[in-house]
Amino acid sequence: MSSSTYAIAIGSNRWGRHGGPVAEVRAAVAALDGVRAVAPVMASAPLGPSLRRYANTVAIIDSALGPAALLDALKAIERRFGRRRGRRWGSRVIDLDIILWSGGCWRSPGLVVPHLAFRERAFVLRPLAAVAARWRDPVGGRTMRQLQQMVDHGRRRA
Ligand code: ADP
Ligand code: MG
Repeated sequence: MSSSTYAIAIGSNRWGRHGGPVAEVRAAVAALDGVRAVAPVMASAPLGPSLRRYANTVAIIDSALGPAALLDALKAIERRFGRRRGRRWGSRVIDLDIILWSGGCWRSPGLVVPHLAFRERAFVLRPLAAVAARWRDPVGGRTMRQLQQMVDHGRRRA
């Protein structure tokens, strides 16, 4: 029974038990239920020895869960992958964010959908546009392709 479709952003910038960030991202995709489509994994090469590698992708999933229950399930996967509270912000084995929900907008304690920052993040919008180019942002009505082009041209939303 699948009542909703979601776009989930998956990111990593630490080594974990599956390997480097790309391996962690692929393993997280495999841990998701109801996957319909996965964008190519975007990996950044480190620019110097001290800089981290990042890997990001977006998966489209079908789920019978509502947004709050799905976030709980995603947090359980993050914990299994070894994500710990208290680590420096930005450094994580895996980050699973709900970007879009077929039901539109959701707001509850600890959860806002669409994700508040996704419109400014090329590392979310590029893979998102690869698998959901025509999905419209329920806030503002732009397609994912339009939002990706805006971020790639360095323009901010009005
Ligand atoms: P971020 O993803 O912003 O880098 P975290 O993964 O640590 O940071 O998330 C912090 C909190 O953001 C989570 O505990 C979660 O409750 C909240 N949150 C709010 N909206 C969302 C969303 N759409 N997807 C995932 N988490 C969200
Ligand atoms: Mg997160």
